[in-house]
Amino acid sequence: MSSPRTAPGGFPVVGIIGGGQLARMTAPPAVGLGVTVSVLAESPQAAAALVVPSSPVGDHTRVEDVVAFARGCDVVTFDHEHVPTEVIRAVQAAGVTVEPTPEALVHAQDKLVMRRRLTELGIPCPRWAQVRSREDLEAFGAEVGWPLVLKTPRGGYDGKGVLVVDGIDAAEGWLAEMTREVEAGEGGLSDGLLAEEAVAFRRELAVLVARSRSGQAAVWPIVETVQTDGICTEVLAPAPDLDPTLASEISAAALRVAGELDVTGVMAVELFELEAARDGAEGSGGRAAYVVNELAMRPHNSGHWTIDGSVTSQFEQHLRAVLDLPLGSTRAHARWTVMGNVLGGDYPELYGTYRHLMARDPAMKFHLYGKEVRPGRKIGHVNVSGDDLEDLRERARHACDYLQGVVTA
Ligand code: ADP
Repeated sequence: MSSPRTAPGGFPVVGIIGGGQLARMTAPPAVGLGVTVSVLAESPQAAAALVVPSSPVGDHTRVEDVVAFARGCDVVTFDHEHVPTEVIRAVQAAGVTVEPTPEALVHAQDKLVMRRRLTELGIPCPRWAQVRSREDLEAFGAEVGWPLVLKTPRGGYDGKGVLVVDGIDAAEGWLAEMTREVEAGEGGLSDGLLAEEAVAFRRELAVLVARSRSGQAAVWPIVETVQTDGICTEVLAPAPDLDPTLASEISAAALRVAGELDVTGVMAVELFELEAARDGAEGSGGRAAYVVNELAMRPHNSGHWTIDGSVTSQFEQHLRAVLDLPLGSTRAHARWTVMGNVLGGDYPELYGTYRHLMARDPAMKFHLYGKEVRPGRKIGHVNVSGDDLEDLRERARHACDYLQGVVTA
């Protein structure tokens, strides 16, 4: 890879659309690799803009902004999945490589497209339906039983855009909004809603894979993700007591999805582990003790533990994958790594808490995103590794609670 954009020494420039914490956390491994990262940021105060010297401000939905940014890059990738397909195609038309491609990325942008494709591939999914009317939803509810989980196919995150409904009346608001948008020709929900059975799961898992442009693939140990009020608060790596046969089935499925969808870069697969294997998980064609919830095609919160807990972090691996470099080892350094998400509390000042936490736990690693503190907002995470899982969980939880201001000692 060499072009006028290439930095001295033949080292490429990787452009990241979006200046959030994922782009920010890509900066340290880029420094190590000698690769230049440039970020198209939402504002000069965006998390990544604060640490990446080349962070032009632009709108990721505007073709002119994104193409002008991309012209200075050898390859362009993403901090989030909200870049419209036509914008990505315009970048490709300008002769700049984009990874993952829009054809792959759509499966992380649109949950209906994802469900349809995974079902075709025989990957276990919750039973689901595309809902375009009240009658569609009533019929699906009669088939699989209430409650149902309703999802807007595009734009959801952290549980926003997900609604659990006990019956048709509870879905009224969403159905009315869908009808209004269809009638107003606003697109949006016009393709309908995704309705899913409410899966009675044992716990939530995630598996992270990376795939390079030429098809080399790697998978990290499967993790357990713990959610509180719809937000991931804790990740346990590896998932405790996971049946080894199930673990290899899940890893194989994730690698297969990455290959079939022709994904380049890091992909996270969020899953529900079931109480017991069941027949007829939609599309699976057999028995499976898991179903896939959703896909993300970028570094993911469930992989933040890899920064300190794995030989190669997800951020370094994403760079290697989109540059088509050989992938790094995904081996874990320690028996366990626990990641705790730091959520914003009522106190805007965080730095003062470091003295206490660092003295209390010198082995703990801190990753703060330079974001303004707002209650409930993900503003950072901590990682801690070792042999005693319960001890690690207690330490991570304490640090997060202390940073949030929930505990004071
Ligand atoms: P988002 O895109 O906002 O992260 P998700 O599809 O991951 O939304 O759903 C958010 C949460 O809602 C999940 O982590 C899970 O706890 C719950 N959930 C989603 N789908 C289902 C389902 N079919 N059955 C039961 N719970 C679900």
